[in-house]
Amino acid sequence: MITVSQEQLSKLDHCGEPLQVGVACWDDGEAVVVLEDGQSARETGILARAREGAAVGQRVPEYAHAGLRAVVMQFDHPSATVLGWIRSEEQWHEARVEVIPLRDDLYSRVRGILETAALADKTVVLVGLGSVGSTIAVELAKCGVMRFVLWDPERLKVVNVCRHYAGLSHVGRFKTKFLRDAILEKNPYAQVTTHEVGVAWENLQIVRDCLRQADLGIGSPDNQEARIILNKACVDEGRPLILAGAFRRAFGGQVFRIRPRRSFCYQCFLGALDTDLEEQAIPREVLAEPIAYSDRPVPIEPGLSNDIAPISTMAVKLAIQELLQGKPTTLRSLDEDLTASWFIWVNRREVETDFAALKPLACDIDGMHVLRWYGVRYERVKTCPACGEYNAATQEKLGMHISEEEALAFAQPSLRE
Ligand SMILES: [Zn+2]
Repeated sequence: MITVSQEQLSKLDHCGEPLQVGVACWDDGEAVVVLEDGQSARETGILARAREGAAVGQRVPEYAHAGLRAVVMQFDHPSATVLGWIRSEEQWHEARVEVIPLRDDLYSRVRGILETAALADKTVVLVGLGSVGSTIAVELAKCGVMRFVLWDPERLKVVNVCRHYAGLSHVGRFKTKFLRDAILEKNPYAQVTTHEVGVAWENLQIVRDCLRQADLGIGSPDNQEARIILNKACVDEGRPLILAGAFRRAFGGQVFRIRPRRSFCYQCFLGALDTDLEEQAIPREVLAEPIAYSDRPVPIEPGLSNDIAPISTMAVKLAIQELLQGKPTTLRSLDEDLTASWFIWVNRREVETDFAALKPLACDIDGMHVLRWYGVRYERVKTCPACGEYNAATQEKLGMHISEEEALAFAQPSLRE
């Protein structure tokens, strides 16, 4: 069977000549797909319009040669008949052709819940494409987000595969380029830009430029510096930011939803760690976790993909709500639920954490339990180095000028020691 998109066939209207296209071939050549010039195309085929007066289905067309996998011909008469041939075992075989309206069908199963057109004009900047970020990227493509800017310096390793969207055949590729292809597999009309570098102080300006042209930043980098820089860039450019990550061994995770100068930012969160811990409902070890997990060299942490999935899912939910701000949607009611800026999820009662003694979930509805989301309210810190008046306060107090980088570094409890 050959599946071909109406959009591909319509290109013949503008082109009198046969059109060479990429085709994906599966199931020992039984299934051939000619949808868009996408990354899954590993072989070539020909689309052609039958010459005037050509009889339908008489023979394999003259365009067919051994270098091709498939030939699809559209006959003007009768009623735009489309015929196809697949080459298999050195022979050409006539195959059933299904012509599909790709653009119309692509998001037909989400309409009514989410008008994907509402996300089509949105751009997201995604930093960190590991197990959390890769899922976020693909889920947003499934929702109809059309423009992506991807940042990650790493290549895929075999050890990534059990938690990553990528499979073994992609080992050695840049995560950015794999994700670009994965996004295009879901939405061939998406535009994806990739940066094979990490977010660092020396490219802060490039990150800012990316965010200025975007609607939302999303981060799940594996180091705290990148989180701090991304937070700073989002605050400076006035772009909302979703930060997501797993705790060690993925016993839980957290997602921040940061609205610059309207909610607390990641730097406010870090700055408050050593000031009001006693007042926090959430234990000190969890508060310290973002630092403990990534600030100093740690052994590679094991963790189940299944335990990471809720974190990615929450980040996607928050991202969609942010992207749909000001637009009518049936998801609007979630705004009443997702009012916190910091969400925590615990997968299990991990030993040597303050969650070790949580009451079993069972049928109890009171108190904190595993396998539930908890929203935490957090106030902005007035003297926050990223979103507050830290520099002015420091200058007044110490009479010295310090750079933004110095201010942010100095403000981190873990880096002051
Ligand atoms: Zn702040």
